Amino acid sequence: PAPVPYRGRFAPSPTGPLHLGSLVAALGSWLMARLAGGQWLLRVEDLDPPREVAGAAQAQLHTLAAFGLWHDDGVEYQSTRGAYYTAALARLLDAGHAFECHCSRADLAARGGIHRRCSAGARRAHPAVRLRVPDGSVVGFDDAVHGRVVQDVATAVGDVVLRRADGLWAYQLAVVVDDAAQGVTEVVRGADLLDSTPRQILLQQCLGLPTPRYAHLPLVVDRAGRKLSKSLAALPVDAAAPLPSLAAAWLMLGQDPDAVAPATCPAGFLDRALAAFDPARIPTGPVRLPAAMHNAP
Ligand code: GLU
Repeated sequence: PAPVPYRGRFAPSPTGPLHLGSLVAALGSWLMARLAGGQWLLRVEDLDPPREVAGAAQAQLHTLAAFGLWHDDGVEYQSTRGAYYTAALARLLDAGHAFECHCSRADLAARGGIHRRCSAGARRAHPAVRLRVPDGSVVGFDDAVHGRVVQDVATAVGDVVLRRADGLWAYQLAVVVDDAAQGVTEVVRGADLLDSTPRQILLQQCLGLPTPRYAHLPLVVDRAGRKLSKSLAALPVDAAAPLPSLAAAWLMLGQDPDAVAPATCPAGFLDRALAAFDPARIPTGPVRLPAAMHNAP
């Protein structure tokens, strides 16, 4: 059979402007896809209205375009895909892979946050739905950056929430359904999601979907070693000044700064980056934000 063409993706949540941590994932997944002569897709993960910031998705897409990170196909929006998540959930329920869960937050907290079986509490009008994770569900995969990763999903995670009691879809279900629907063959993303991958593989198996290959890029942390996030006020990357941010992201991917130093525009930067990109140099551990990229103390 003909080899399946490479299809990568970048899947930001519109919770704020792109910061350097998300740019590392965007640039890294773009480089991996283009190096393989493959496609690079965009998906806006707008599943959580309370956490969404108005205008953030458009700003993120604008920034990616200003940085020369062009995508293939149209942009997918998870907020439009509820019918597909509903259908996947129905299949899991029919097959006995999923069940309705009436446990309260307090029930769960009393069990250390890991759901194994429902407590005999009150029934709710709107239960959550969970994936049934049998004892001994040990899942392993070979990450292109981190090597062999193995997790006992039953003891480390427990029964995975698929639809929350408030009716919102869980990221874990949506990402599995959408990666398959978009024909994604390579998931290249931040290492903060490394420990979500085994449960996503389990879900793929229950839904009869293919498992893509995975590469988890280094997490960018601030000088105190904390993950960058909106709450830590990580400096947004400046769509009007792409080169310093691209250079910082390139450095954090462990790549040779001299290779891109002569670039004077994003397109020139990306050409040089693609010619010099060596995935074997990507670090496994967290990388620190360069001092110049911090907000003033
Ligand atoms: N939307 C997720 C995030 O912004 C990424 C999901 C993924 O790449 O699988 O952290």
